[in-house]
Amino acid sequence: MRDQAFTELCWLLEQPDPRLEPDAIWRGDRMDVYRHLREVGALSLSNDLTAGIVCPDCCGPVIEPNANTDDDRGAFPYRGYCPDCGWIRLRPDQARLWLAHSAKIAGWLASALHLTSRSPPDAVVPDVLWRLGEAEYRRRRLTLFFGRHLVPSAAIVRDELDRQVAPGAEVIITSSDPVALTKTVLGDRLTVPLRAVAHLRKAGLVVENLDAYLTGMVPTVNTRETSLRLLHSKRVALIEGLEHKVPPQLHGLLTVLEEFDGDEVHKRHLAERLGIEPEKFRLADIIKRHRLIFEAFAEADQKGHYWLKPEFATLERR
Ligand SMILES: [Zn+2]
Repeated sequence: MRDQAFTELCWLLEQPDPRLEPDAIWRGDRMDVYRHLREVGALSLSNDLTAGIVCPDCCGPVIEPNANTDDDRGAFPYRGYCPDCGWIRLRPDQARLWLAHSAKIAGWLASALHLTSRSPPDAVVPDVLWRLGEAEYRRRRLTLFFGRHLVPSAAIVRDELDRQVAPGAEVIITSSDPVALTKTVLGDRLTVPLRAVAHLRKAGLVVENLDAYLTGMVPTVNTRETSLRLLHSKRVALIEGLEHKVPPQLHGLLTVLEEFDGDEVHKRHLAERLGIEPEKFRLADIIKRHRLIFEAFAEADQKGHYWLKPEFATLERR
């Protein structure tokens, strides 16, 4: 039930309007799931009236709640007219919409991560992004955020993140789909799926395994990344975070230099590997309009030696 409830909660958080009709709460096939979410406080009553509910007395027609003006209205501030039953008195929880409380999730995350200050987390993009606080992981100072429904707001969220923190210092825990996020401008930020690190308990959220997501992050999420990480998978070189397409011969050259892992390679060998006659090996022909890529990752001397710059060699020289 808890897993189902949490799955449902994450789904709700991703809806443009994360509110539920009271009928879903009191008579739908997910009543049990929603009862659990109400009990833990993840669902709470909003101030907005539903446009209609099924008559609670006869389960017949849909009735529209409005203010109950009776003097003895008591616990029934609303009422609706059913053609079969007449006036039906309604409690607030029958007449108003229920809300999946994003701000509350943000607060739970902050306290589960022990980030709580005296005030609840700030919504830095209203209803979308909350700043939870800061923490140090492996001697890196990180700022943690919670985000929901991020894909449609990706550009606004990116701008706000850039205002809030240095690139690469942010971690966004989110209910949004990580795959969909990679296709947005947030694709190079570290996003952590809420469902992968949190569990719903009676007392609220418990966070586990966040470290696993953080340890792999250090250079790879930096938006200014310069690396050959995507050389083979995407045939691009990353320079200052931008992807540069690598033409075939240059790809071959960088591949050989990678194999030598920082050691010098003579151009005779390079020519052979690239299937060029050694006397026709001319760097200018290979790099053509892509000198930027070559110079970012490789160096050469006057004697025809080439090598990968040491910072891109993977060999550990300790
Ligand atoms: Zn009725």
